[in-house]
Amino acid sequence: MSEHNQQVQPQKNKPMQNERAADAPLRIGVYICRCGGNISDVVDVDRVAETVKLLPDVVTAKVHTFACSDPGQQTITNDILEQNLDRVVVASCTPFLHEQTFRGAVSRGGLNPYLYEHVNIREQASWAHKHDPEGATIKAIRMIAAAVGKLHHVEPLEQIKLPNHRRALVVGGGIAGMKAASELAGRGIKVLLVESSQRLGGQLNDRGRVYPTERDAKELVEELARRVRTHSNIEILMQSNVTAVSGFIGNFKVAIRTEAAGIPVTETTVGAIIMATGFRPYVPQDGEFLYRTEPGVVTMPEFLQLLRSTPDAARKLTWNGRVIRNIAFLHCVGSRQLDGVHEPPPNGRLNTYCSRTCCTTILQQALEVRHRFPSVGVFDFYRDIRTYGRGEENYYSAASRAGVTFFRYNGEEPPRVELTPRARAKEGVLSVTLNDTLTWGTELSVPVDMVVLGTGMMPGEIADLIEQMKLATGEDGFLQEVHPKLRPVEVSVNGILLAGTAQGPMNIQETLAAAGAAAVKAAAMFAREDVELNPYVAEVDLSRCCGEALCVTQCDYEGALQMVSMEVEGATVERAQVNAGLCVGCGACVAVCPNRAIDVNGWRLDQFEAMVDGIAAAIPGQECTPELVNIH
Ligand SMILES: Cc1cc2nc3c(=O)[nH]c(=O)nc-3n(C[C@H](O)[C@H](O)[C@H](O)COP(=O)(O)OP(=O)(O)OC[C@H]3O[C@@H](n4cnc5c(N)ncnc54)[C@H](O)[C@@H]3O)c2cc1C
Repeated sequence: MSEHNQQVQPQKNKPMQNERAADAPLRIGVYICRCGGNISDVVDVDRVAETVKLLPDVVTAKVHTFACSDPGQQTITNDILEQNLDRVVVASCTPFLHEQTFRGAVSRGGLNPYLYEHVNIREQASWAHKHDPEGATIKAIRMIAAAVGKLHHVEPLEQIKLPNHRRALVVGGGIAGMKAASELAGRGIKVLLVESSQRLGGQLNDRGRVYPTERDAKELVEELARRVRTHSNIEILMQSNVTAVSGFIGNFKVAIRTEAAGIPVTETTVGAIIMATGFRPYVPQDGEFLYRTEPGVVTMPEFLQLLRSTPDAARKLTWNGRVIRNIAFLHCVGSRQLDGVHEPPPNGRLNTYCSRTCCTTILQQALEVRHRFPSVGVFDFYRDIRTYGRGEENYYSAASRAGVTFFRYNGEEPPRVELTPRARAKEGVLSVTLNDTLTWGTELSVPVDMVVLGTGMMPGEIADLIEQMKLATGEDGFLQEVHPKLRPVEVSVNGILLAGTAQGPMNIQETLAAAGAAAVKAAAMFAREDVELNPYVAEVDLSRCCGEALCVTQCDYEGALQMVSMEVEGATVERAQVNAGLCVGCGACVAVCPNRAIDVNGWRLDQFEAMVDGIAAAIPGQECTPELVNIH
């Protein structure tokens, strides 16, 4: 991101709640979770507890069936209060799930929540080594020893608090953007909705009846458009583009250019950004299945347009002045591409993913043709049929009953679309040839007048926004979430959320659900007056910094680290300074500083060293230390 003036300094540590004399030994409590057998079926948790009790300064080590349960948490809180614990380790599942849970339990005991270490002995020990209980047990002990080692070097940390601008920017006015905007507005949050085109509704503007409701897409688009246009909390900028983004959660500065109004650029501040920029339909390359070579070869959106513009009363389906008597639908055009079989699109990257909506769309269209024009022969060439949504399989059975003829091809051998030798003869001008796996690979050739290419979805063209916001994309080029299950609409940049097909192929139902989720996430963020961030950000030790700026050069997060002039012992010098709002605590700066003048709070080098020592140390109570197992 570009320069942002506001500097947020790392918070100075507050004193520990339960003070103890500086030279007094620590009092560490260790809690080992059985996870209802997920851990204890493999790891000998009682032995782990007995062993880690012998580690330096561990005063209690207990096993619980579900440490995350209320009684489990209460045990930790009570022990802190009753046994005067000043450090806590919980060895359980992934920190994604319950790190915050246990920080809460620790806080309720009056302890700073960062005097706590979470050890993942489920994914990293019991699940990873389920065929090696002994190895898994030793690994669990060593992982806890590492945490105990680290806890000897931690100090209390405070969350970073930043002012929160209660206003969201939604980029993209398709159904995802409109849904997210109206949900946020309904929760009393101001929204700026920016749409680059002249109309709201995105791709659904060009769609007629949509599966599985069979309602006109226009109804949905108009309903959502009415909501966003009439809500006093929503400001809409049409034909507008975001040209620059800087800042951080709660405080993003965005520049927007509105083409139509001739307004050069306006700048504004928002607290969160929802990316709802949607998808691009796949456009076949010239000559791909004779597309753009033969007029009878069309894409699915083009065919939908043809059906929509053909009056209900029409008795014949015509295209380019020709009556259509036989139609072929081809699945997976531009989706599920295989190396060596398909020509990569101009961006050089094969679309290996499934576009998820094409199969049902094809079946729905095939049915419509059969119902409206019963004399038209419909032939469906599929690789696999994936009608995965509720009620969507009905389209397949209905199409079969309605006389659609199905052929199946092997992915390695896509059908060939060719001009028939007897072009313009009665059989039609085109033929589709395949080795049909439903009839044991028989080569079949079907003459048709029209070939509809079941084109899928491509990522939107938003490279500039991706660059400005430092967003991650998956191998498929769509925007990528932090975790598909645990944080499905969040990206690694705090305060930026994803809604709809900007993230990957989705149908309407999924798009709206994702948009709703993004809105709820943003609303939760706005519920607090301040934005609270983890304190794991870099901090410069000015007594060691020599102003070499290697850290600034290395930093990928623009504005997170910069050189500033300051007075040191009467001289003006340049020193590195961290903007805690922009720093993500990646540690790239730490690795390049020759003077150890910069470190990440909560993950300092001395803490890592203590962890390594803990892992490598002899296991207490064991005469002969077993071989180290791989710790990933
Ligand atoms: C052929 C086809 C048929 C389909 N039929 C069905 C169906 O029957 N039923 C069903 O459930 N699903 C169907 N789908 C899926 C459906 O189209 C999507 O789920 C839906 O359109 C996704 O909405 P969206 O808002 O995520 O994206 P989009 O509809 O792509 O909207 C994105 C919006 O963002 C705007 N935008 C893009 N970039 C920017 C930018 N940088 N700045 C500002 N604005 C920007 C665009 O102009 C657009 O208005 C079909 C898909 C295809 C391809």
